Amino acid sequence: MACSPSISDHIIPAVSSAEDEEIVDLVVKGTIPSYALEEQLGDCKRAVRIRREALQRITRRSLQGLPLDGFDYGSILKQCCEMPVGYVQIPVGIAGPLLLDSFEYIVPMATTEGCIVASTNRGFKGIYASGGATSTILRDGMTRAAVVRFPSASRACHLKFFLDNPSNFQTLADEFNKSSNFARLQGVQCSIAGKNLYMRFSCTTGDAMGMNMVSKGVENVLAYLRNEYPDMDIISISGNFCSDKKPAAINWIEGRGKSAVCEAVIKEEVLKKVFRTNVATLVELNMLKNLAGSAVAGALGGFNAHASNIVSAIFIATGQDPAQNVESSHCITMMEAVNDGKDLHISVTMPSIEVGTIGGGTQLASQSACLDLLGVKGASKELPGANSRLLAKIVAGSVLAGELSLMAAIASGQLVQSHMKYNRSTKDVSKVGS
Ligand code: ADP
Repeated sequence: MACSPSISDHIIPAVSSAEDEEIVDLVVKGTIPSYALEEQLGDCKRAVRIRREALQRITRRSLQGLPLDGFDYGSILKQCCEMPVGYVQIPVGIAGPLLLDSFEYIVPMATTEGCIVASTNRGFKGIYASGGATSTILRDGMTRAAVVRFPSASRACHLKFFLDNPSNFQTLADEFNKSSNFARLQGVQCSIAGKNLYMRFSCTTGDAMGMNMVSKGVENVLAYLRNEYPDMDIISISGNFCSDKKPAAINWIEGRGKSAVCEAVIKEEVLKKVFRTNVATLVELNMLKNLAGSAVAGALGGFNAHASNIVSAIFIATGQDPAQNVESSHCITMMEAVNDGKDLHISVTMPSIEVGTIGGGTQLASQSACLDLLGVKGASKELPGANSRLLAKIVAGSVLAGELSLMAAIASGQLVQSHMKYNRSTKDVSKVGS
């Protein structure tokens, strides 16, 4: 499989025309760096085959179980993964239909954890039988927070007041917005630590998850500010006040990516038939486990039973950044008796779902097929951002189903039994999932 033309320009004829065996030898000896194979051969598949063989010889380990064939290595070059030697297979299950805002979705979930798909599917069934779920996007904006240092705290505060002043917003936005048609500055939130200023920029990102876009926008503003504040030292484009891929109260409170809330009223007879439980037991369990229990644990965004199980399975299937599961799984699950105590109102509130339908891993063939199944592949033609917002709603709707089903399983004492049934017979089921 040929690599892109820009790579092919660098092909070294002496190397590319040599036999595979000779090149493997050169890699083993360190004469050709493993990372340079794609560039020197101009053939991505061949580069992977040779790197893999050299690795097996160096380590004296077999990669037999790791497939080589059946993957387009050109599609990941300089974008998704460096120095590939194969690919890991993760099964994709489907759950659904999820009836959400009057539309039906079949949700792809990539996981090697038994029960997750089956349990989510059961949740969907209960939600469907109760008339469906309703969702709302409360906020949509990706963030990046640069850190800069001044000779004094008062100078750092001077810039903070400049950024806080609404009359300066348009100047900042003009700088920020100039590198993308989709990144539009929403605001800047500042925090001071002595002489250091942390500036959390937030912007819309169309259908992209948006880390690249927001970072470019912040760079534009920093270049502008450097002229206005010559004594400003730029320490880092990211000062962790963003906060990306780390648990942080800022995301839990202010949101990052899409903030979503999803709710449903589950009927008494559905609770009985589908979930073998009742409103009072679920409400009490939710209070003791998801609210009080998580408070006792000092949880940060973890007021739920297993949101991350569902979030990570959908993230992997649809090409999201799995490391962003950290904050994307922040969720508070609420349960309340309604309709004279007969039915259950359940909701999940998730302030930082970071998803995109264009860019990153979303364009790869398998992930793109999963996005297509949901009807959210690529950029929305009607309204930029509509696809990624819908994906966030689907994530929230699926988490709602997962919460309902797992909590019901615990309430009715089914958890151990269901794990025994779905492939857990040799494992300690008390350690699974919840
Ligand atoms: P990210 O910012 O999530 O890392 P990328 O920069 O990898 O995303 O991908 C976004 C790219 O896709 C940008 O170059 C952007 O101009 C382009 N693009 C095309 N249509 C859209 C759209 N509807 N929403 C967002 N980006 C879009």
